[in-house]
Amino acid sequence: MERCVAAKDVAVDANRLWADLMALAEITDPRLPYTRRSFSPLFLEGRRWLAEKFAEAGLTVRTDPAGNLIGQLPGKLPALGVIAVGSHSDTVPSGGRFDGIAGVVNGLEIVRALRDAHVRLDHTIEVIDFLAEEPSEYGLSCIGSRGMSGALEPRMLDMTNSVGETLRDGLRRVGGDPDHLDAARRSDIEAFIELHIEQGIVLESQSLDVGIVTAIVGIRRIEIVFVGEADHAGTTPMALRHDALVAGTRTVAAVRRIAEQMAQEEQDYFVATVGVLTIEPGAANVVPSRCRMVIDARTTNRALIERFTQIIERESGQHAADARVSRAPLAILSDGPPASCDPTLRAVMEQSARELDLTTLDIASGAGHDTAFMTRVCPSGMVFVPCRQGKSHSPEEWADADAIAAGAAVVLQSVKTLDRSLPRKS
Ligand SMILES: [Zn+2]
Repeated sequence: MERCVAAKDVAVDANRLWADLMALAEITDPRLPYTRRSFSPLFLEGRRWLAEKFAEAGLTVRTDPAGNLIGQLPGKLPALGVIAVGSHSDTVPSGGRFDGIAGVVNGLEIVRALRDAHVRLDHTIEVIDFLAEEPSEYGLSCIGSRGMSGALEPRMLDMTNSVGETLRDGLRRVGGDPDHLDAARRSDIEAFIELHIEQGIVLESQSLDVGIVTAIVGIRRIEIVFVGEADHAGTTPMALRHDALVAGTRTVAAVRRIAEQMAQEEQDYFVATVGVLTIEPGAANVVPSRCRMVIDARTTNRALIERFTQIIERESGQHAADARVSRAPLAILSDGPPASCDPTLRAVMEQSARELDLTTLDIASGAGHDTAFMTRVCPSGMVFVPCRQGKSHSPEEWADADAIAAGAAVVLQSVKTLDRSLPRKS
């Protein structure tokens, strides 16, 4: 079986890449495969393994003040700046072997492929393992990429985990330096590429090789609370009830209907979900007096999320009036803006895939990624590889060795092209 995917004269070794993925998968909580939570002893063990592999590949290894593990291979003309490739090695509880890890190992494999072919680039290459892309025990995600882009705010360092340790102290524990976070901010990276499993079924269902990510969704979480009156479920006539849940369920149905309409009418990606719905007092024989929900709305177009919020505000107010309950003002719990991938990088990746005879699709990312923060630092792009049935954040997560190698070859070819074509400062 042909297991090497050639990027012109330099080839990615699919077997070597796969062996690394499986070796990292072994570093897991044995009771909860595959778990390597950020900041945990297992996470640090995984990083020691990675650091060794980075060093074996000829990279100089360091941890930056934001806790990112970085392997660096100086270029022939280091003044040109850095081309960076990477993702994250932490997992969710009972997560998979590929989410994030595939992108880190891809970076490592690219460096080895270049070395094996005796190719040295003009630009310096860095392989980055971002700290804590998944929500950490401190309640914050994308800690490393926030740090690299200047979005790790001082107040965030005071967030605590379940045993009361601050993120500030946690950062120190993983080799970061919370007192000098400014030094983690980068201005020398000229391009960044992240390879990631799609975590969806689009590529697999269309039998496509790679997805070229157009943009990463922004996520707005909206809290809506309806307040009615708790009354006896047997003695209160229907016409005299103030049932908070009735307004709530009609709003849930509205969220679904409006999201479907927006996704249909607009070219842009739009999805919305009510994932939290609680009622009080929550007894079979009592009319619900309070209903709280949290809407998670995601889109690549900021204007759509504003319009959605306005419509939901109006409709939920109407449903409250119809059910004779009150509705508190909508509360925006969190609001991350969408991030666009760089058009030039997208074109380079598209061209690279074509040169490798791989099929591609422009695709929006419905999940958040470190790349969203890296777009604030430098031109950034993402390559998606298909994963089985779109399953992710579960032990069943799976991507074929050849599929990952194909994506890695696209990244390798793109890095080589960028090394020649990136604008050079005179
Ligand atoms: Zn990920």
